[in-house]
Amino acid sequence: MNDPFLEKHIHDIPDFPKPGIVFKDISPLLASTEARIKMTESLVQKFKKDNINVVVGIESRGFLFGMLMANALNAKFVMVRKPGKLPGELIDQEYELEYGTDTIEIQQNAIQSNDNVLIHDDVLATGGTAAAAHSLISKLGAEIAGYSFMIELDFLKGREKLPASKTHSVLHF
Ligand code: IMP
Repeated sequence: MNDPFLEKHIHDIPDFPKPGIVFKDISPLLASTEARIKMTESLVQKFKKDNINVVVGIESRGFLFGMLMANALNAKFVMVRKPGKLPGELIDQEYELEYGTDTIEIQQNAIQSNDNVLIHDDVLATGGTAAAAHSLISKLGAEIAGYSFMIELDFLKGREKLPASKTHSVLHF
């Protein structure tokens, strides 16, 4: 059951960015201090006893609550970004889209092999992005303790595409 208070802060935008797609707009959630606090608590609640020391946020909406989650868990925050955005030594991971491929990158020294990582993004749709983040972080030898999403689009079955780990979503649609 979705928390009605949090659910009412996510608005459906029909036909965005393309006809036939109903976009989940998190702007009302960002605008409310009470909703931000409640969402952050809901995102970290299931991972409080898991000794997470790094939260990885996926560009770009994964940065917003990823940072708040890192504060709440007293963990490091690390960005996974689109190509060309991060300086220094990088490693990358390509993944399939509906049409074509995309790539994500991380700084090589951002994560150590003894780290215990929580992956965060705003929405779990087909699972391609979060699965790619898992592969990317695995290349650095770290443990992935789980995934925490604000929104899961259940009908797309993205959860089934994720390499096994604790998967938690605050709101299901
Ligand atoms: P996936 O790789 O198909 O799971 O898509 C996840 C990515 O697409 C996330 O980074 C989301 O930010 C974005 N995304 C997909 N659907 C929506 C939506 O309805 N609202 C906002 N973002 C979405």
